[in-house]
Amino acid sequence: LNAARRGGRWQKFTEADGQEANWQLSLLAELDLAMASGDLWNAYQPKLDIASGRIIGVEALVRWNHRERGPIGPDRFIPVIEANGRAADLTIHVLRQALEDARSWGDNGYPIGVAVNVSATLLADHGFIETVRATLGDGVTRPDRLTIEVTESAAMVDPERAVAALESWRALGVNISIDDYGTGQSSLGYLQRLPATELKIDKSFVQTIAGDRRNAIMVRSTIAMAHELGMKVVAEGIEDAECLRLLGEMHCDTAQGFYISRPLSADALSALLDNRMKAAA
Ligand code: C2E
Ligand code: MG
Ligand code: MG
Ligand code: MG
Repeated sequence: LNAARRGGRWQKFTEADGQEANWQLSLLAELDLAMASGDLWNAYQPKLDIASGRIIGVEALVRWNHRERGPIGPDRFIPVIEANGRAADLTIHVLRQALEDARSWGDNGYPIGVAVNVSATLLADHGFIETVRATLGDGVTRPDRLTIEVTESAAMVDPERAVAALESWRALGVNISIDDYGTGQSSLGYLQRLPATELKIDKSFVQTIAGDRRNAIMVRSTIAMAHELGMKVVAEGIEDAECLRLLGEMHCDTAQGFYISRPLSADALSALLDNRMKAAA
């Protein structure tokens, strides 16, 4: 709630700062109710296996339908929640819902994986890792159907610690994806030590492959390198057919983006899976 500190300098506390602080306080006060009432809910964005054209998983992206303010995006409310020590509560809420929804898709004949975003503050939090272990112990969904997405920059805050933490995560039997890859300045030395199963190339690189030859070379080489290191590659932010076609040519494994599908409610995702199944039959 340090609204007055900007760019490392203290400035005059304005009325706008006061409103921002009030807004943050009200979000925090409403968090538990929002989780219990379903105002905080998981949208799911499909992950497409490029070679087969099948949906093999989804990423959970949390949403808040605020009673007064309407929909608020995660980039807006997650920093507030994290700065106030509620990141674990929110993430466990998202994870439990994701595992339940994955079980219900599995029960309906779609044994797809589900990915949950885990922030830098939780990556190496042993208490949090233990809570996830206990949650998985309920047996709702097999651990190998779960992927945790950790941003490359989160892993690079303290690389030695991240390597050790990711090893604890791997010991739970879950998959690990390095999210927003290319934006986090990881050294190649650390990248090859991270026990990740998947590299997720940031949309800023993916979206320019059609128009920027040098960028296309970088993406193609990154895909080849990840494969050599034994990782699958996901490209995020695919917005047109040409981009998807080029990624297929580059042997990228998995694609995610508005061209394939926007993030959907659990029910809308079930309907999409049914429709695709019928269309394929
Ligand atoms: P992210 O994990 O990198 O997720 C990708 C973001 O790109 C999502 O934004 C998604 O809706 C958006 N996106 C997907 N396809 C396209 C496309 O084709 N074009 C464009 N322009 N954008 C696309 P969203 O849902 O607003 O989430 C933003 C970020 O918030 C996520 O980035 C993730 O870092 C964070 N986030 C979301 N849910 C959670 C959560 O449950 N826990 C934590 N810790 N972070 C979360
Ligand atoms: Mg993600
Ligand atoms: Mg990303
Ligand atoms: Mg991101």
